[in-house]
Amino acid sequence: MPALTPVDEVIETLVSRALAVGDIERVSVSAALGRVLADDVLAAVDVPSFTNSSMDGYACRASDVEAGMSYEVSDRVTAGNAGRTLLPGTLVRIFTGAPLPEGADAVVIQEDTALKNERVVVNQQPGTGDNVRPRGQDISSGGAILRNGHRLRPQDLALAASTGCYQLSVYRRLRVGVLSTGDELVDPPEPLAPGQIYNSNHFGLLAMIEQEGFDAHDLGREEDDRNAIREKLAVAADQVDCVITSGGVSVGEADHVREAVNDMGAIDIWRLAIKPGKPLAFGNVKGTAFFGLPGNPVSTFVTFRMIALPYLRRCQGQQDVMPRFLWAHAGFSWKTETRREYLRVQLSNDESGRLMAEVFGEQGSGVMSSVCWADALAMVDVGQTVELGDMIRVYLLSWES
Ligand code: AMP
Ligand code: MG
Repeated sequence: MPALTPVDEVIETLVSRALAVGDIERVSVSAALGRVLADDVLAAVDVPSFTNSSMDGYACRASDVEAGMSYEVSDRVTAGNAGRTLLPGTLVRIFTGAPLPEGADAVVIQEDTALKNERVVVNQQPGTGDNVRPRGQDISSGGAILRNGHRLRPQDLALAASTGCYQLSVYRRLRVGVLSTGDELVDPPEPLAPGQIYNSNHFGLLAMIEQEGFDAHDLGREEDDRNAIREKLAVAADQVDCVITSGGVSVGEADHVREAVNDMGAIDIWRLAIKPGKPLAFGNVKGTAFFGLPGNPVSTFVTFRMIALPYLRRCQGQQDVMPRFLWAHAGFSWKTETRREYLRVQLSNDESGRLMAEVFGEQGSGVMSSVCWADALAMVDVGQTVELGDMIRVYLLSWES
């Protein structure tokens, strides 16, 4: 039996081997959510492209205005109109987003003024630059606003559109296939015969793949039969960039997935120092990347997120691929031996504001309700003893996509 490979070593190897998909597409900004940029995005204009007011009030030259004095209002400018010129010694009525008149350098907010005999009394001495958004405050024309390898979020699309950008270069979606293996599996709504279970991993895996913005391919399910699995994998390998299976990678007599892969390619990585998920396998089928995830539902979930995802993200062209973590205080004690454990935990602040992680009582690899209950996976490394209150890494489940 080969020794268990450390998790960090496996992730590092996988990420360093991952090659970004070669094809690049132009997509409209409105269709780019979740896609990964294949080029830097440069700003075509300054944002804002003209100096404007951030408030409703009166534009003035700050040095010409004295608190307590009244002024004539010589003009009125609203958002969407061209700039005007300020007549010396007067104010210009101005509204949020309107261009600051030539000659003005501040805006007195309307709450700091009073109307008196058709004139405006300024109650508060303005300072130069008050309530003014200078041209280029947010973005300078020509600068990179988004980088190659960045996965686009709603705020990134808004930023790109603020510079007039309407199309983006992105990597084509990574094609990821999911095949469930196991004689015991049936798909809802089929009734369960004795000994059968529902093929739940399939739904979770396809959903995680879709949530990442990959192109999910449903390869169905196959029985624990080496030839049948081999045939399915052979066809899939020509259709997708990566094949993911669940089940059948352990050491039982009904575990045929590794043999089937070896018939057409190789298994390079197998058996990790991880709990849950030890029998994870990685290799290739006819040159197409292959992950064999263990069948226990929590193992499938944890190994997909912690091991397969960084690799798949890099294949998708993404730069920042590692799951994000925070440090929290353990609200429990724990001890590991030869495997790194990822525990299902819930996070909250205690009365002094400390981030606390509470552990789910039943950490069995078949207990999917622990994952649904959890906010995060807490990592306890090989040979580590965690005492109540110790700092531990928690990988947030809801931060990822
Ligand atoms: P295996 O990895 O094939 O040894 O399976 C380990 C455990 O996971 C067994 O109890 C299987 O019945 C279960 N299992 C395997 N595949 C799935 C699946 N697609 N959905 C839910 N449970 C599964
Ligand atoms: Mg099995």
